[in-house]
This record gives sequence, C-alpha cells and structure tokens, in this order.
Amino acid sequence: MAQNSREIFEAIVERVKVLDPANSRNWFNSLTVKNFGGGMLDIGCPDSESAGFLQDNCIGSFTRAAQQITGHLVSITFGVGTKTEKNNITFPAAGELRLHPDYTFDSFVVGPGNRLAHASCIAVSKTPGTTYNPLFIYGSVGLGKTHLLHAICRETKANIENAKIQFLSCEEFVNRFITAIEQGTLTEFKNLYRTVDLLVIDDVQFLREREQSQEEFFHTFNALYDNRRQIVLSADSAPGEIPSLPERLISRFKWGLVVRIDAPSYETRVAIVQKKSRLRGMAVSDEIAEYIASKVKANIREIEGALTSLYAMAAGEEITLELARKALGDKESADKNITITDIIKAVTSYYDVRPADLQSKKRSQSITMPRQVCMYLARSLTNHSLEEIGGHLGGRDHTTVMHACGKISEMEQTDDKLQSQLAEITRRISK
Ligand code: ADP
Ligand code: MG
Repeated sequence: MAQNSREIFEAIVERVKVLDPANSRNWFNSLTVKNFGGGMLDIGCPDSESAGFLQDNCIGSFTRAAQQITGHLVSITFGVGTKTEKNNITFPAAGELRLHPDYTFDSFVVGPGNRLAHASCIAVSKTPGTTYNPLFIYGSVGLGKTHLLHAICRETKANIENAKIQFLSCEEFVNRFITAIEQGTLTEFKNLYRTVDLLVIDDVQFLREREQSQEEFFHTFNALYDNRRQIVLSADSAPGEIPSLPERLISRFKWGLVVRIDAPSYETRVAIVQKKSRLRGMAVSDEIAEYIASKVKANIREIEGALTSLYAMAAGEEITLELARKALGDKESADKNITITDIIKAVTSYYDVRPADLQSKKRSQSITMPRQVCMYLARSLTNHSLEEIGGHLGGRDHTTVMHACGKISEMEQTDDKLQSQLAEITRRISK
C-alpha cells in the first residue's frame, strides 16, 4: 500500500478525534488500512469487538473525517484483520456475543466500593460454574455492573475454548422469549439458553411484573444450575428488594454469592478519570483528574460525560485546568440562560428536521425522537415546567413530556450513540 494512503488514513483518524471525542479511543492508532481507493476505505480492526464498536458508533465520524481530509465522499467499512478477504467476517451478527471493547478487567479501576464484585467476577471467569453460582451483582446506575459483566464474558471466552456464552439484557431475554412464543420457536429458545456454559443477564429487575417470563427464566435457571453451568446476574437492588419478584426466584438468586457495588471513593474517581482519558488517547494531568473527580461524584457515567465536554471544548488543542473549569463550571452558569428556543434550534439542526415538524402531530420515529430529545433537554437545562415545555412543542400535555423525559433518560443509560448525540447537542446549545 502506498505510503500516501497510510498518511491520509492517519490524518483521518486524527480528524475523527476532533469530530467525535466521545467515541475516540487510543487503539484507533492500531487500525490498519486494508484497502483504500475508488471511493472506498476498508479499515482493519484488531478484533470483532472493536469492529462492532466502530460500526455502531463511529461510521458517521469516519465518513465525515474522510470527506474533509480527501475532499471526496468515501464509503467506509470496518473488518477484522489486516487483509481484505471475500466473505470477510466484520462483526458479530444479531444473537451472537457482542461485547464492548472498553469493558475489560484491565480497564476497570478497583477500589473499596467494588473490590469484592471485581474479585468475584474474576473468579467466575476462571472457573465458571464452580465457585459462585449464581453470581448476583447489584448497585445503583453507572457504577460498573454492565462493565463487569462484559469483562466476565470476554475473560471466559479467552480462558475456555469454545465456551458457549450468552449475554443479554433482561429486556432482550423477555423480548426474545415473547418472539419465540409468537413464532412457535420455543423449543429452539429453550435449547439455546438452557445449554450454555455461561448465561449473563443484565438488569434482572426488569423481570418484575413479567410473570410468564419469570416462569421461563426460572426453568432456564434450574436447568443451568443443575448442570453446573454458570449464571451471572445484575440488578439495581438486592434480590429481596426487587418489587413483585416471586419468592422462589429471590431465593435462587441468593444461592450463590450476592455482592453490592458502592459509589466510588475520591481516589477511585481520580484513577477512573485517568484511565478513561488514557483509553481515549487524550490523557489529562493529575491536577485536572483531581479537579474532575472532586466535581463529579455520584455516577461514573457522568465522569465520562464531563471528559467528553472537556474534549469537545478543547477541539484537539491542549487541555488546561482553565478549560476544565470552563467545561464543568460553565455548564452550571450557562444553563441558567438557555431557552427552549435555543434547544429547539440545536435539536432541529442536529437531526435535520424542521421546528414545525416537532410541533406537528407527526408520529414517525424520525420526528418523535428529536421531539422527545427536545423535551428531555428542556427539562434538564431550563427551569420550565412540564406544561410550559409541552406548550412549546405543539401544545402537548405534561404527561407526554414526562413520558418523553423518562424514556430518553432511560435510553441514555445504555445507548452510547444517544449519549454522544446528547453531549454534542448540549455542547452546541451552550456555545
Ligand atoms: P451500570 O451497568 O452499573 O449502570 P456501567 O457498567 O454501564 O454501569 O458503567 C458506566 C460507565 O462507567 C461505563 O463506561 C464504565 O466503563 C464506567 N465504569 C464504572 N465503574 C468503573 C470502574 N471501576 N473503572 C472504570 N470504569 C468504570
Ligand atoms: Mg448497566
């Protein structure tokens, strides 16, 4: 490959870092060019996790960066390995194990709040089905449960050849179960989940009030347990505190080890800021890490949000303490002057829709989503009441606004793409 392609590619990666700091990672530097020419750029990734991550989160920023650098429209693909082959496997298909490349044991910072959880996850991935079964991890949102579950899957996959692993959110389990009933594929469903070596289900609190799914889950649990297969579960509260869960499930959840994750200490938060900033290939000084750790306390996802605003503000320039103060402090003072009109303007330009559409009765997804984002941002960035917000968006009543806010805030917890969209829109609003 010509030297030239490599240089152009490096310039594209550098541009991506500026365009989308939230999704940039230091391992982008190890991406390779498999093929470049004729309006196509075929990018080689180290493994299927990274290829999946790029496909899900970064295709837009790579396309934009490539267009800016080359001056042409370039079609981007991500594949595993360094050569372009026919029938190249790019990333796992639906239903296959899909792990987040960031969520490894290596990138997890251990502190007093999560030490036991971390140790038990490592133990489980060394010898699944023997030590703690089931392993039940609980704690409030943003404290690293999903991170640890991904790490268990990844380690088990590395430790045990051909291990059959299924990782799914509880909602996915419920949805697939319902689909299996509807399509008459219940036997396949049962065969799939009752014969794995490791079954990981995230956020099992969603099982509440799902009686039929609880029943199915109960039988899956028993089948796996009896065959000494590992079960790992997470939830936002302890087994006995999940409302309307039947006693027989609660008691089974307690058969193995139940561990709580607590909020991180100051030292842990500093270490997390440092780790996350290195992971993104844009390390910050100790002083800045300490500043961020002192400002953001409750939830680690917010620490990442703070870093994202900081990088967005720096736009590739040096990151100073001044800038960090501005990125975190400015937000508070600027928030006071933000109007709903500012928000509507930023959201409509971001999603490329018209303000009139947001105020209309249209209910297509391409309009509903920006409308709900508007409501959510208006709720969190201004002091307007639900009624007032509804009034600005086509005279909707307060329950509609409340529903929208709840939905977006829930999606934000798990949807990386939405997270970075919200960060970008917020950045544009505060400018
Ligand atoms: P939960 O599932 O408990 O809501 P997540 O696992 O989604 O939380 O974690 C939220 C974010 O915080 C993730 O990006 C995760 O990588 C990060 N995180 C949480 N705890 C740690 C930790 N101890 N070290 C490094 N990153 C962490
Ligand atoms: Mg989670």
